[in-house]
Amino acid sequence: MVSSQPPSTSPVSKPVAQVRYELLTLGDELLLGLTANTHLTFIGQQLGRHGVQLQRNITLTDAAAAIVAQLRESWARADVVITTGGLGPTCDDRTREAVAEVLGQKLVFDPETERAIADRFEKFGRKMTPNNLKQAYKFERGEVLPNANGTAPGLWVEQDGKVLCMLPGPPNELHPLFTEQVLPRLAQRGLLLDHEAYVQLRTAGVGESALEHKLQPVFDRQGDALEVAFCAHAGQVDCRLSSPSGRLSEAQLQQIAAECALLLGEDFVCFGHDSLAQTCADLLRASDGMLAVVETATGGMLADAFTNICGAAKFFAGGCVCYTHDAMSQLLDLPEDILLQHGAVSAESAVALATGAAEKLGANHALAITGFAGPCSGSKAENPVGTIFLALYSPQGVWAKKLSYPGPRAMVKQRAVNAALDWLRRELLRARSGECMTSRRLGSMQ
Ligand code: ATP
Ligand code: MG
Repeated sequence: MVSSQPPSTSPVSKPVAQVRYELLTLGDELLLGLTANTHLTFIGQQLGRHGVQLQRNITLTDAAAAIVAQLRESWARADVVITTGGLGPTCDDRTREAVAEVLGQKLVFDPETERAIADRFEKFGRKMTPNNLKQAYKFERGEVLPNANGTAPGLWVEQDGKVLCMLPGPPNELHPLFTEQVLPRLAQRGLLLDHEAYVQLRTAGVGESALEHKLQPVFDRQGDALEVAFCAHAGQVDCRLSSPSGRLSEAQLQQIAAECALLLGEDFVCFGHDSLAQTCADLLRASDGMLAVVETATGGMLADAFTNICGAAKFFAGGCVCYTHDAMSQLLDLPEDILLQHGAVSAESAVALATGAAEKLGANHALAITGFAGPCSGSKAENPVGTIFLALYSPQGVWAKKLSYPGPRAMVKQRAVNAALDWLRRELLRARSGECMTSRRLGSMQ
């Protein structure tokens, strides 16, 4: 494992795990609940993956006095302060001036940034208004982090043995700036690790406690050199393996993770951070498979998961979101007698919908989700709110299964989507390994 001691260029001389990071997220819209504070999840995760934990996140209004007061406090306490938002051209963008006041620095005009802003306006055929020049100011003893996706660059200051990093608010600007410029700068100064701090195993279909129980013998052999953490979300559990003491090398952690993966069999999804949809997409592509989906209870979430992956047309034929019986009959030829006899929320309808989607969309795999996501639906006593029927169509056959999820509508939908993805993943894995289908077919049919 790379030494956790900072190199000599570091403004801060302490082990990486002890470097104190604070994140100040600025913006009235965050406090009004109009925008979710995704910078916390993004930056927190990126830092965590590199061996440091954010000590605090404080969300502030755009008022200059509030920014000045909070920055004074954070600057006194932290080694690295990151601010987000308020770097734009408008009157509510006051971060630059507030920070200059706290650091006792002057803001100076940077002609290079002015040129970059002017070029951007020209590229998009827009006229640059004078207020945009505000974004061309940097700190007299600071640096500019060029922003390829917007007009306001990031700003970087090293002062008083600390680092201040200011980033623009829009996520599409902040994300690449953070991963391409901020992370390498911090690693260079020994303020975080230049490699992943932990190995993550993604699992599906196994609960948190069962997972720990199964892997415990592997963990026990490592004693306290190994740190284990679990994170459960909607039918999936992630398990992070790390060695904060540095007693286990990266290669040893990977070896332990590989042992766990072997023990878990099909419940193991991947190492790292790939989504279930990404894992399915990789398996579909590897087998020249093409998928179609039908959603009568999840409103397009399955299609969304697949179409978030670049190059989706190579493995995703398309999907149907249909909520009325007419739509199901007209778009997917769902037979009327099935609807009359079993209803739309049934194994029979799910199978017919998956088969219809595969045929109509020219796919060799299809998933159908139908059910009562609640809270107001749920017809018969045997199918209360939270009942979901999934169907999976593949070259080996077509199956259905019934599931039941308690909880609010959004949770039922997410769990149904994850269950469908996980079922497809397992089917593709088994097809890859040439497992006999007949026995499974009998086993999973409801
Ligand atoms: P701009 O040049 O767009 O004004 P800025 O640096 O001044 O950029 P803000 O005005 O604070 O940033 O926010 C710009 C956009 O970024 C807004 O759509 C805002 O909702 C979004 N945003 C700001 N902070 C966050 C955050 N913490 N999480 C998610 N989105 C955010
Ligand atoms: Mg702004």
